[in-house]
Amino acid sequence: MDLQDIEALKFPDVDGGSPLIIAGPCSAESEQQTLDTARALHRAGVKVFRAGIWKPRTTPGCFEGVGNRGLAWLQQVKRETGMLVATEVATIEHVHDALAAGIDILWVGARTTANPFAMQAIADTLQGHDDVTVLVKNPLNPDLDLWMGALQRLFNAGITRLGAVHRGFSSAGAHIYRNDPQWHIPFELRRHAPAMTILCDPSHIGGKREFVEPLTQQALDMGFDGLMIESHCDPDHALSDSVQQIKPEILKNILDHLVIRSGAPIEDELALLRQQIDDCDHELLAVLARRMNVSRQIGQYKRQQGLQIVQPKRYQEVINARISEGQSLGLTNEFVQEIMQTIHEESVRQQLND
Ligand code: PEP
Ligand code: MN
Repeated sequence: MDLQDIEALKFPDVDGGSPLIIAGPCSAESEQQTLDTARALHRAGVKVFRAGIWKPRTTPGCFEGVGNRGLAWLQQVKRETGMLVATEVATIEHVHDALAAGIDILWVGARTTANPFAMQAIADTLQGHDDVTVLVKNPLNPDLDLWMGALQRLFNAGITRLGAVHRGFSSAGAHIYRNDPQWHIPFELRRHAPAMTILCDPSHIGGKREFVEPLTQQALDMGFDGLMIESHCDPDHALSDSVQQIKPEILKNILDHLVIRSGAPIEDELALLRQQIDDCDHELLAVLARRMNVSRQIGQYKRQQGLQIVQPKRYQEVINARISEGQSLGLTNEFVQEIMQTIHEESVRQQLND
């Protein structure tokens, strides 16, 4: 058995074939905040509610979730609104407690997907619970095998109500988005598991409120099966991911204006290649911005030390080194030389103007 065998139909069909929308706060913070948000989302037509109660944060000391007492709030949401409820699990204990509380959908976060030991422990704990739905977010690093390996471990444990969530990939330096989408990676996953539900999480990709709407439409245009979107009744005061969460009313507006196109452009070869070009261009621009930033720092240093801006010996060394590096990557000498000259000219300009 492999991922090719996953049947999309086993995923809860909550919206009768239209895109699956999972929404809710990054974290459940209090009973009031959880219920206020859930009620507003229910009014907005959302059928699956998400809220993290165990929050794996990059930096210690941040809000790390309310823990087990949040399970009762999720049960209350389920009782009162009838929505399915979802939360993140990262350890064996989380899985036990979430299952005991009747949580419908468990998701594995990006930091956990990257850890095969943790994934195997979660899979072993889920063995025999084939009525639960599990979503696996992509790992932090753009490694399709790691993502598929995590899904495979769950599948081998008998979990066939399985889906994936694309939330973008961590990368160093300044980027437009919080997490680099690298769309070709979920497209590849689709090729390996054609019937599996693949959702997009525009909140964690964009990292800012204003990106949620365009990324949401883009994701549907690219053939994702649905969305996981962070929504909070009072985003400005959220204890985690404040700048990317949107109010339920805003989410309703976005959903009301979504254009659902037929066809599956995700399988279109040309669209797939164009998407890769876009990904490369985003990376190129981010790298160029980072390089110019370093150049400006060098400019300041040279000025402090009374050194001249253009140092011909260093310049020639850099060009020669890049040309031979380019050769080993299949790039022509002329092309590399031209690009490096253009970049160098801009660096000098930045250093002089700074
Ligand atoms: C989240 O969904 O709030 C979360 C922590 O996501 P990720 O694992 O994608 O960072
Ligand atoms: Mn979050």
